[in-house]
Amino acid sequence: REKAVVMTAEDMERVLRRIANEIIERNRGLQDLIILGIQRRGVYLASRIRKILLESEGVKLPKGELDITLYRDDLAVLSDEPIVHSTSIPMDVSGKTLVLVDDVLFTGRTIRAALEALMDLGRPGAVQLAILVDRGHRELPIQPDFLGKTVPTAKSEVVEVRVKELDGEDRVLICEK
Ligand code: 5GP
Ligand code: MG
Repeated sequence: REKAVVMTAEDMERVLRRIANEIIERNRGLQDLIILGIQRRGVYLASRIRKILLESEGVKLPKGELDITLYRDDLAVLSDEPIVHSTSIPMDVSGKTLVLVDDVLFTGRTIRAALEALMDLGRPGAVQLAILVDRGHRELPIQPDFLGKTVPTAKSEVVEVRVKELDGEDRVLICEK
């Protein structure tokens, strides 16, 4: 059940431009940067950020993807934990600055799993995190470097991120589960 719109298409556009600009400020010259989207919607947000960086700086950054979903523990001994199913990264990450992009940050466990997988691939020079919506309820000390918007939520609510590539529109809503 939809409760409130927290970002319109224009808000999303503005926020992605701001995040792209903050990435430029933090990483002058955009050298050795790789933009990594987390499946599924993070991949579309990552590709929009790359497009803005190409248009405004004329730099075409390499991209990659991480596929991370919750592992359901059928025995219910452990609670569900995110696991990395696959990584698709075009080059050696050693010494590179990796910018992880995801739609929503919640407990932080997905990013923790992503970091662990990246460390297995090599030794990045730095890892930065870009997030569209921080909905709170963190369980680990993980914070975004680049953030679209903080949206306080109840645990009974979910943030619905719609992107036009998949959902036919750009919009962020709060919904009751
Ligand atoms: P975390 O691992 O931080 O608990 O959850 C973050 C991951 O789960 C992200 O990949 C995000 O896509 C997904 N996620 C968690 N909560 C929400 C939510 O309210 N809305 C959406 N769209 N994704 C969520
Ligand atoms: Mg996700």
